[in-house]
Amino acid sequence: MVQACVAAGDLTDSQATRLKDGAECAAHRSDITLSDYDGQLDTSTVEAVFSDEKLERLSPSRLKGYAKCGFAYFMNRGLGLDAPDDISTEPDTLDIGDVVHETLERFFSRLQTTPGEPVDLSDYDFEMLEMQLLTAALDAEAELDLSYDSPFYTTWKSHLLAGLATPAENDHYDASTTGQPAPESEHSRRDRGFFLRFLEEEYSNDSELHPAWFETPVGFDHDTPTFELPLPDGTTATISGVIDRIDITQDVTSEPASVFDYKTGSTNLKRTVEGVEFQLPLYAIAATHGIATTTDQPSAAITVDAHFYDIDVPNGVSRKGPLSERVGDGPADPSYEAFLEDLTPRRVHQIDEAIRNGAFHPSVLGPREAGCKYCDYSDVCDVRHHDRYDLIEHIDEENATAYVADRSREIAVEDRLPGVVMHEWVGR
Ligand code: SF4
Repeated sequence: MVQACVAAGDLTDSQATRLKDGAECAAHRSDITLSDYDGQLDTSTVEAVFSDEKLERLSPSRLKGYAKCGFAYFMNRGLGLDAPDDISTEPDTLDIGDVVHETLERFFSRLQTTPGEPVDLSDYDFEMLEMQLLTAALDAEAELDLSYDSPFYTTWKSHLLAGLATPAENDHYDASTTGQPAPESEHSRRDRGFFLRFLEEEYSNDSELHPAWFETPVGFDHDTPTFELPLPDGTTATISGVIDRIDITQDVTSEPASVFDYKTGSTNLKRTVEGVEFQLPLYAIAATHGIATTTDQPSAAITVDAHFYDIDVPNGVSRKGPLSERVGDGPADPSYEAFLEDLTPRRVHQIDEAIRNGAFHPSVLGPREAGCKYCDYSDVCDVRHHDRYDLIEHIDEENATAYVADRSREIAVEDRLPGVVMHEWVGR
């Protein structure tokens, strides 16, 4: 029929070619087998598109990006195609994250003489800490040089700073709209900003663990910022990333330490357990080695647990975790050790191999998990979510080089830990 249209002069040759190519592509895409039409590239194309650095270094955010959707990963990390940023007159969650990270690093590190020295806030007057925190926040804001100048920005700063120190020292002491400082007894939730709530939470925490490292690279050394993660085949993966905070006891062998990852967005430990997010386990593994090295202890004597630290401006903070209790019965449970030392390296290895082998098919997670609604590539990926279970079955049957997060499957984490033989693991 297309040829008849060409013969009749209704279509040009190039239009006919595009129609035929489109029909062929649609036919392959409707099939659940993986083909060149499903983002399957050869290794020479992968090497031409990705720089050595991008192939050699894996960060938790890269691993998560790939685990959510190979196609989006290729478009974003490989081809570098991004939608332009929205223009905003007020700070967004990234700005909030930057200010909070910068401020807390300054605040805590100014209370220690060397990195790794535990900071016990109860050694200080609360009022003195308020002033320190206010100074750290103002310094951080100046350093970040946020280019906003609007009433929204003023309100936003009040949400962070209200109630800290005194009205004379803090221009944003009172978050009310009257312009007059309210008496302390009348302070509303709005009049106690995020940093004051954070300080109250930290000051009243009677844990034996105290913050000791802040914004530290996973290699624990600014000259060697990366960490080599041992993989199941005897090789290693180079992991990059920055650990927001590590809390320890004075004697690091007496209690499990904890890594914290500050989060301004939604957190869900299940995504970590089910192989979509990687910060907490990778940071716990890296911190184990880093603490052991810097304190001259054997790695086997160090245990590290992990938490998310939810940043909710202005309402305060909350800890999510520990990870060990979502995996097993706490940090001493062998399941947790197996999760860190066996399952996490296996997952990283699968992703590393899938990227190097050019597996960039659209997501096999559900649309909500993959974030399809807000994806810049949704007009071009032609994902077929209704076929995803058939595609996963095909990947398993063919033992195809691909990564399928356990979040896509109905499988409990304990079924993935050593001692349980799962047929789809064999040979991978
Ligand atoms: S819309 Fe969903 S499946 Fe398609 S590229 Fe984006 S994340 Fe991947």
